[in-house]
Amino acid sequence: MSNQTSTATETARGTGAEILQNYVGGRWVPALAREFVDVHNPALGSVIAKTPLSTRADLDAAVQGAAKAFPAWRDTPVVQRARTMFRFVHLLEQHFDEIARTVTTEHGKTVDEARGSVRRGIECVEVACGAPSLMMGHGLEQIATNVDSNVFRQPLGVVAAITPFNFPAMVPMWFLPFAVATGNCIIVKPSEQVPLSARLMFKLLEQCDIPPGVVSIVNGGREVVEAICDHPGIRAVSFVGSTPVARAVYQRGTHAGKRVQALGGAKNFVIVMPDANFDKSIEIITESFYGCAGERCLAGSVLVPVGEAHKEARDRLVESARSLKVGDGMQPGVQMGPVISGAHRDRVRQYIDRGVHEGAKLVLDGRGLAVAERDNGFFVGPTVFDEVSSKMAIGHEEIFGPVASIHAVKTLEDAIALMESHPNANATSIFTSSGKNAREFARRATASMVGVNIGVAAPMAYFPFGGSRDSFFGDLKVHGRDAFEFYTDKKVTITRWL
Ligand code: NAD
Repeated sequence: MSNQTSTATETARGTGAEILQNYVGGRWVPALAREFVDVHNPALGSVIAKTPLSTRADLDAAVQGAAKAFPAWRDTPVVQRARTMFRFVHLLEQHFDEIARTVTTEHGKTVDEARGSVRRGIECVEVACGAPSLMMGHGLEQIATNVDSNVFRQPLGVVAAITPFNFPAMVPMWFLPFAVATGNCIIVKPSEQVPLSARLMFKLLEQCDIPPGVVSIVNGGREVVEAICDHPGIRAVSFVGSTPVARAVYQRGTHAGKRVQALGGAKNFVIVMPDANFDKSIEIITESFYGCAGERCLAGSVLVPVGEAHKEARDRLVESARSLKVGDGMQPGVQMGPVISGAHRDRVRQYIDRGVHEGAKLVLDGRGLAVAERDNGFFVGPTVFDEVSSKMAIGHEEIFGPVASIHAVKTLEDAIALMESHPNANATSIFTSSGKNAREFARRATASMVGVNIGVAAPMAYFPFGGSRDSFFGDLKVHGRDAFEFYTDKKVTITRWL
């Protein structure tokens, strides 16, 4: 899903947009790249920076810097490592609005949405500050006469995180604070489409007394990702992105002997029972489908009204979606921003064309939307299809845009069967006032993030985050206690006291 590339020479002649650098060995250094990706302001369509597509040699330099830093960082007392994260939290709070505005500038979501995502990122750093407690092992004395045994958690070494475009500040924070607090050295490869928020946060990390090499950025795309999977100096890889790439990263990384967690794409089903509280539910459902312009792995994608819920759910969703104010996310009152790129806007529009072609009923069409004074922005309006079936592309594939596909069914059993027939199982929600229905649904859904009267079932930083089936490849999920498991190995000592 990346943008156009250009050669170094073209860049020199081109827009004058800044070419970003990597952060390696505690310094900002130019990449050896010969190709660059344009970073856009999606509301304006303008080029605001260029991401270098770093090479294997760039990655290798970062791994060497990180490996050099690791022994001393591992031996730094955990409470001191945690203190660096306390400093980081403080700086993130001080620069909260600047980070949120950077997210909006490079991604397009509204500033309020960006603020919410930065808050979620900071919460991860706060949880990582608990490393002295959360990294603890356990032990037992006298397992035999005069013999004690203890379990210690030790950091792995050099680890890497590869992140997607849709949460430029938050997703890197799912990994970096936990890796650092547990004594690892981490290399972050941000999405080439949105590298500026990560860069800003690294400028803050520079002020946290973290030794050179403990945190690094290598900008780039596929070449760096494959180099991360292959590099013998990297012990663990965290990935977040689309399912095909998540699967490939998981296979390639584990083949090379690494610990890998790879979070993939989604097709989230939102079930509405006839006994739902419609006044409250429709507002929440609208936010689920159209918040962040639908570019959320937890966004609602297929609305499944059960029985008599169909007409009311559809009509009220259309009314609510139509009233959303779409525009530049920087401007007050705007409720939905653009999508990430011109290419992605065209892709979403093509899905709408396909929906029409395949026989779904288009009840709200966002294709022709124009935003005043933002002629070059990448906008698609809220869209609603009714009479969708799972055979249609819009009923089956991840669109990752502001398109709701309504697939009505007769019973809750049918709704569960529909949801369970899909290969993805990231998040799901049910809207109902029946405890029995809610419990039955939550118990039987394979998706591992389940909302009851909640439209975006996003676990907080102290709970595990991640889906199932084709939405997740690996064992340990993201943040919460799983992060401490993922970033440490368990060592058992058995001691005889002679
Ligand atoms: P993407 O898969 O295109 O890119 C993700 C990362 O992989 C980027 O850093 C990119 O540079 C790299 N990459 C892209 N193509 C590659 C290739 N062929 N080989 C190796 N590396 C490659 O995803 P995206 O478009 O940036 O993000 C949107 C996707 O991420 C959606 O599918 C969304 O559902 C998913 N996502 C999932 C979660 C989750 O928690 N499961 C969270 C956020 C986003």
